[in-house]
Amino acid sequence: MAGIKGSSLSEEFLEHVHQLPQGKSIDKCIQCGTCSGSCPTSSAMEYSPREVIAALRAGMLDRVLRSNTIWFCTSCYYCTVRCPAKIPFTDVMYELKRLGIKHKIYPRKDTNAVMSKAFTDVVSKYGRNAETELVKKYYLRSNPFKVLGQLKLVMKMLSRHRVDFFPHRISGIENLRRMIAAAQENGER
Ligand code: SF4
Ligand code: SF4
Repeated sequence: MAGIKGSSLSEEFLEHVHQLPQGKSIDKCIQCGTCSGSCPTSSAMEYSPREVIAALRAGMLDRVLRSNTIWFCTSCYYCTVRCPAKIPFTDVMYELKRLGIKHKIYPRKDTNAVMSKAFTDVVSKYGRNAETELVKKYYLRSNPFKVLGQLKLVMKMLSRHRVDFFPHRISGIENLRRMIAAAQENGER
């Protein structure tokens, strides 16, 4: 892509994006703004989808990773289906999330990346969401003192059996773990 600086981070990013179906079309962005106009959350993003591509061209991958943008993407795929250059922008957002978590480059004031990592850890362990475990991991990694403010709600939900104190693993968890390991191995290539 014209303008992306040759840092190892940019090279890693482009290598993965180019492996996506239609991934090489990222070089063909015409800056039409259809993605930004279609995106339901672009008004809350520091960089709109169109600006993300422009920022990447300007060698600002690091700034994009430190912005709130990728963590406000709801994966609705509007940008992808409407892009005239057939750029798989939603998958580009996933790649940016993967890169940010791997290299610990994400906005410090937001904790969406922490929540995302806590959620995938819980699902990898139990095969499903386990709310009490999720809350515990999220607050311990972001702000342990805030968990005190949630205790009343958690106790209420426990008493009404809305959540389990001891999470249960799904049957066949080994198969799920093999799938996750294969996907992770593939993603590292
Ligand atoms: S819709 Fe596609 S071509 Fe248009 S700005 Fe967005 S990514 Fe670029
Ligand atoms: S997939 Fe993400 S970036 Fe694309 S339109 Fe939906 S929310 Fe916006």
